[in-house]
Amino acid sequence: MTYIGRNVSVIGAGTMGNGIAHVFALHGHPVTLIDSDPVALRKGMDTIAKNLERQVSKGAITDHDRETALKRIDAQEDLESAHAADLVVEAIVEDEEIKTDVFRTLDAIVQPQGILSSNTSSISITRLGAVTSRPDQTIGMHFMNPVPVMKLVEVIRGYATSDETHRTVVEMATALGKMPVTVRDYPGFVSNRVLMPMINEAIYCVMEGVAEPESIDTVMKLGMSHPMGPLALADFIGLDVCLAILEVLQAGLGDPKYRPCPLLRQMVAAGRLGRKTGAGFFEYREGA
Ligand code: NAD
Repeated sequence: MTYIGRNVSVIGAGTMGNGIAHVFALHGHPVTLIDSDPVALRKGMDTIAKNLERQVSKGAITDHDRETALKRIDAQEDLESAHAADLVVEAIVEDEEIKTDVFRTLDAIVQPQGILSSNTSSISITRLGAVTSRPDQTIGMHFMNPVPVMKLVEVIRGYATSDETHRTVVEMATALGKMPVTVRDYPGFVSNRVLMPMINEAIYCVMEGVAEPESIDTVMKLGMSHPMGPLALADFIGLDVCLAILEVLQAGLGDPKYRPCPLLRQMVAAGRLGRKTGAGFFEYREGA
């Protein structure tokens, strides 16, 4: 069975959504990219154009590939535009209440055979599926940032996800040139259950004055062969996203070891969210 050419709708044109739309379009899928915020939608489309251009200049794709990929993406503001989707990938804010609302709405809109997937970093796929009439066709498709570059897709099977839905999503991810790895539906899955406690501990080290952020990252890069230090990675992911994931781990697993560091809470409250706001543990302003 070939999945090339199947309709894909991506909800949310932010950091992840535009990358997901980019990759599906480049691999032959008609994509509807939907964002309720017209400014974010425009910005998402601009980012896709810029990133495709970069791939052309590196010789990874041809100019014809770039042009056809862009033509395959239809930018829309209304969820109704997802009605013909064979696969929906939801990539909106990491907030269970908002995601649940969107899943309920999508269930009423999307054609009955359509699969509903979420790019959530930590929220229960079982609970998202439970608000729809198709929990068997609900699954997690957790892409990594930046999506066009990173090979992994963590595929999360909810309690009711069917074998057929799982097989389709694994085959579609493989056809994108990604490596799907299937995990079960526990808070944070594997990626963030392992990563976030490390980031949180690095933030405790900053708060307790164990070392400067630069030194903490250098220890992990040179000592543990991590390509990026935990604090630079937290800035890259977004400190608000890190906090939201730690809260899901803490609530879902009930172990105090997942308690978000007070310094992380403070930085998020101050709007110092990492790269996207120009400053986090490090400065990203021009000349910094
Ligand atoms: P983002 O804030 O960059 O983008 C979210 C977009 O969704 C925004 O443009 C917003 O306008 C749009 N949106 C919000 N509510 C909407 C709605 N009801 N309908 C349509 N559009 C809506 O967020 P992001 O970093 O791209 O994260 C998206 C998801 O991907 C989250 O679940 C996050 O946990 C997950 N994720 C993030 C990363 C990362 O590194 N940032 C990595 C893996 C997974």
